[in-house]
Amino acid sequence: MTDCVFCKIIATEIPGEIVFRDQQATAFRDLRPAAPTHILIVPNKHIASVNQLEAGDEALIGHLFLAAKQIAAQKGIDKSGYRLIVNTNADAGQTVFHIHLHLLGGTRLGGLAG
Ligand code: AMP
Ligand code: ZN
Repeated sequence: MTDCVFCKIIATEIPGEIVFRDQQATAFRDLRPAAPTHILIVPNKHIASVNQLEAGDEALIGHLFLAAKQIAAQKGIDKSGYRLIVNTNADAGQTVFHIHLHLLGGTRLGGLAG
């Protein structure tokens, strides 16, 4: 996707503070952090949202969770705790249409959605 900001970060066409990368996924710091640790974990393949997931994407989505686990440990918040959020469309406040896991932690998070 040529006009997708996260595809551009994955391709290093625009800067991003990348904290994890492998063949299937990339993770980088959120530009406007909502917690001391706020990382976005995205598949390298462009998928707009949960609504566009297809049969065959199961392993890829599972991989994002395993990346989240690894990054949480790397950032030292695995024991204290963290939250994973996936927003879909307007009512959830999705603003970037490349599916992503928000990894939030490093403080006591309030409410259900943070
Ligand atoms: P969402 O509301 O779930 O679509 O989340 C999109 C997130 O992407 C927001 O938390 C933004 O702060 C973040 N964001 C937007 N552009 C960038 C960027 N260029 N680099 C890092 N994070 C970004
Ligand atoms: Zn994309």
